[in-house]
Amino acid sequence: MKQKQAAVFDFHRRFQTENDCIEALAKLKWPKGFKCPRCGHSKSYSLDDRREVECAKCKHQTSVTAGTLFHKTRTPLLKWFYAIVLISTDKGGVSALRLSKQLGLRYATAWLILHKLRKAMADRDAGRTLCGVVEVDDAYFGGRRKGKQGSRKDKVPVIVMVESDEGHCGYLSMVVVEHADLDNAERVIENGLEPNQFVRTDNSKIYNSVSKIGHGHKNTPVTPDIADEELPCVNKAISLAKRFMLGTHHMLRPAHLQLFLNEFCYRFNRRHSEPKIFEKLLHLCVSTSPILLPDLRG
Ligand SMILES: [Zn+2]
Repeated sequence: MKQKQAAVFDFHRRFQTENDCIEALAKLKWPKGFKCPRCGHSKSYSLDDRREVECAKCKHQTSVTAGTLFHKTRTPLLKWFYAIVLISTDKGGVSALRLSKQLGLRYATAWLILHKLRKAMADRDAGRTLCGVVEVDDAYFGGRRKGKQGSRKDKVPVIVMVESDEGHCGYLSMVVVEHADLDNAERVIENGLEPNQFVRTDNSKIYNSVSKIGHGHKNTPVTPDIADEELPCVNKAISLAKRFMLGTHHMLRPAHLQLFLNEFCYRFNRRHSEPKIFEKLLHLCVSTSPILLPDLRG
């Protein structure tokens, strides 16, 4: 919590006006100074809307937000930046409802901002493979609400993989699957790991093909009372992810679960560089191509 408060305090100190945000974006977009995308000229004039600039040579007009995640947004950048500080530093993330109330945005706008940020986070980590000793387990998310005993058929299965260095968690990856079965487990592990790693699982049959696809494999009968000893990293990741989903996103639609889990993994995987996570995500927003609504429909 302290980390988040410090980050929010620092944010309000650094970014007080729309212009502060525009300057920060310009520095990220043109780190060596303005460069006209049409003619390469380095001199420009700011137009009335300070987001827009005009090349002094060819008169081409461009904007600090063009071609970025903020492309053509009508929402003030100050509100975007605040969403970025919250989603990057609050372990519980932030819901669209909370963001819409805090920033005076329509719910749909807050939802779109957060989903675009989640998609950028997901794309950043897509394709990264795990190595070393990797703990793998399946978990079930969503389903019936508290007070009603939901069965697994109401829930969405997820294969969870995390690097484990003698119980210290490394990189985490979570993949939503249609069924937690042998074929899906094999596919997710094959895609998610470098070749010839070492996988630890419980003795569920869905992991029976791990050694067939070239990994070392230790499967141990794991009862709940020894789960933290046998598979400490994957259990920790699952329980933190469940807390995150319950606390912030209890009304989640299963189709969007993967994006939310990616958001969780993005923060988890950068937990050792927390003070810089806002900068990293802001930089990612500038280097990410525009994301359109159809890209977000699950
Ligand atoms: Zn030009």
